[in-house]
Amino acid sequence: MNVILFGPPAAGKGTQSKFLVEKYNLVQLSTGDMLRKAISDGTELGIKASEIMKNGDLVDDETILGIVKDRMEQPDCKNGVIFDGFPRTKAQGQGLDAMLEKMGKKLDFVIQLQVDDEILISRVEKRIAETPDNERRSDDTPDTLRKRLDVYYEQTKPVLEYYGDKGLLKKIDGMPRVEVVSALLADVIG
Ligand code: AMP
Repeated sequence: MNVILFGPPAAGKGTQSKFLVEKYNLVQLSTGDMLRKAISDGTELGIKASEIMKNGDLVDDETILGIVKDRMEQPDCKNGVIFDGFPRTKAQGQGLDAMLEKMGKKLDFVIQLQVDDEILISRVEKRIAETPDNERRSDDTPDTLRKRLDVYYEQTKPVLEYYGDKGLLKKIDGMPRVEVVSALLADVIG
């Protein structure tokens, strides 16, 4: 089973991905985590991505599709993956479709976590207050979050239409407690 968990920054995609990994024995494929690992490893990709991420912009589609393809070819992805933070542009969605088709795989669900902007901003403010400086993500600042939200509405939201047209999109309320959202997700997936 392959699932896209879709939603704005700080919607809870990472947290809920972990729940789905446990419950359905899937692999979490977070392009944000992969890029952060590349930065901490000091790879060429990491050097390229670092400034882009700090500004809240998107890394280019070709690079992202390349790292996703490499990851999808690993044997542990055989049982299925949760795409977390990917695809973020329509071109990435189209690239993913082509990649899956070539691999003889398909998408089973695209699930959107719906959370109001004010709640996203207050979640990030809380996270900033609770996390020591040296552990904080470089893009976890109120200003960068606003930029990431703008990028989400401009470049990422059209992806919803793309999957809506394909009849794959399901929407759930991402605002209740973590366990309640997990239960809503489990209801959709079954
Ligand atoms: P995330 O951890 O998913 O919030 O991603 C953090 C940052 O990594 C984003 O703000 C982008 O700069 C970059 N990034 C992560 N995933 C993608 C993607 N699929 N396409 C482009 N940039 C991405």
